[in-house]
Amino acid sequence: MSWEAVIGLEIHVQLRTSRKLFCGDLVVFGAEPNRHVCPVCLGLPGALPAVNPEAVRLALRAALALGCTVHPESVWARKNYFYPDLPKGYQITQFDRPLATGGALVFDAASGGEGQVRLRRIHMEEDAGKLLHDRIPGATAVDLNRAGTPLVEIVTEPDLRDPADARAFLGALKRTLEYVEVSDCNMEEGSLRVDANVSVRRAGEDRLGTKTEIKNVNSFSGIERALRMEVARQVGVLEDGGQVVQETLVWDDHRSELRAMRSKEESHDYRYFPDPDLPVLRVSPRTLDEARAALPELPRARRARIQEVFGLSAYDADVLTQARATADYFEAVAGALGDGALAARWVSGPLQALMNRRGEAADALPLRPPTLAALVRLVEEGTVSDAAAKKLLPELAETGETDVRAVVEARGLVQVRDEGRLEAWIDGVLDAHGEEVRRYREGEGRLLGYFVGQVMKASGGAADPRRVRELLLQRLAER
Ligand SMILES: [Zn+2]
Repeated sequence: MSWEAVIGLEIHVQLRTSRKLFCGDLVVFGAEPNRHVCPVCLGLPGALPAVNPEAVRLALRAALALGCTVHPESVWARKNYFYPDLPKGYQITQFDRPLATGGALVFDAASGGEGQVRLRRIHMEEDAGKLLHDRIPGATAVDLNRAGTPLVEIVTEPDLRDPADARAFLGALKRTLEYVEVSDCNMEEGSLRVDANVSVRRAGEDRLGTKTEIKNVNSFSGIERALRMEVARQVGVLEDGGQVVQETLVWDDHRSELRAMRSKEESHDYRYFPDPDLPVLRVSPRTLDEARAALPELPRARRARIQEVFGLSAYDADVLTQARATADYFEAVAGALGDGALAARWVSGPLQALMNRRGEAADALPLRPPTLAALVRLVEEGTVSDAAAKKLLPELAETGETDVRAVVEARGLVQVRDEGRLEAWIDGVLDAHGEEVRRYREGEGRLLGYFVGQVMKASGGAADPRRVRELLLQRLAER
């Protein structure tokens, strides 16, 4: 009899603010340890927190983009626990009255078709600091730069049934949050962290099995691997007649293994209570309307529209909408060229390769859409060859030069299509290769490519190879 996994996720997302949630300290990744701290985030006596409105605005955007119900009033709560990375002795979060509840996200299921995951809640909270185990030999150091960084925690219903879908869902979530510019979702820098709850049951059963929690997963592939491993383990325990024990497991990505957390670390007596230093968080109907009006087109809608309007394949539309900046870039080039398929070919091919090489997003690339469109036009009208144009892209990206025609001329890349000049090169080549011409006429058709190559060489690469080929066929037929 087959087994079914039941998976729910808790995703911590760092909001893209310049400052912390309750104080004026800058949020900077990789800064010198304990550089960005103050009495508020250090929890010194008498220091009072004040909410960063920018963080609230971003949390609202996330909630609206995910179709959640935003509550007009939500409450800040203290989650009390002792740990060296938590200087106040409590974390400010939201508990029984979160910012938003409900909502759902549709995604492309790993097995094909659409999947949907309902969301339970989205709340705001502050991040803790970070323990550094590699700075001081034999000791652990504490860096509090990250303490107080604004986060939202997104909690899903246990709607996922397959580890591959958990990964697919996270990809869709990341894309949505990047589109609405709520977070950069950079997993290496810890801007997106995932915990998972997982249990198994016999297929067709409604009752939930005992679940375990997986923590500390910091890559999408890690989530899929950790879940696969844990599902297989639970199935093994149950098939052997045993019982799954509710516990928290830590994922070790390097060793690809799960180990149980010490029970001390998972004591859940947090003694939540409303933070007396912070007033109720109020979101007015007007603020909500403004936030809703400011939302951009979301990824799936954009993908569908781009596919429809520009007549693209589903695959191209998906590639071009992976990042919002790339979709913007594509639409600008397609508009300028009046040809979606042509723009798609250039943007998803050579331009994407260029962005990968430079490690830049489309909106950071000094080569702007009108310049690419101008270059593609020169290729289409035969002024410059496809290959030469592609070779020119890195230079245009480097210099930010916009007068493409001038660059093509200065580099001597203008293709020669003048019949007189082409014929002179062709005659020269045919005269010098009488033997090959004789063999060609006796049936060695493949020599045509050799002649084209010789003409291109004679022209220093400037001849239009397509026209050379046509003229060579004519001329060889005449001789
Ligand atoms: Zn501070």
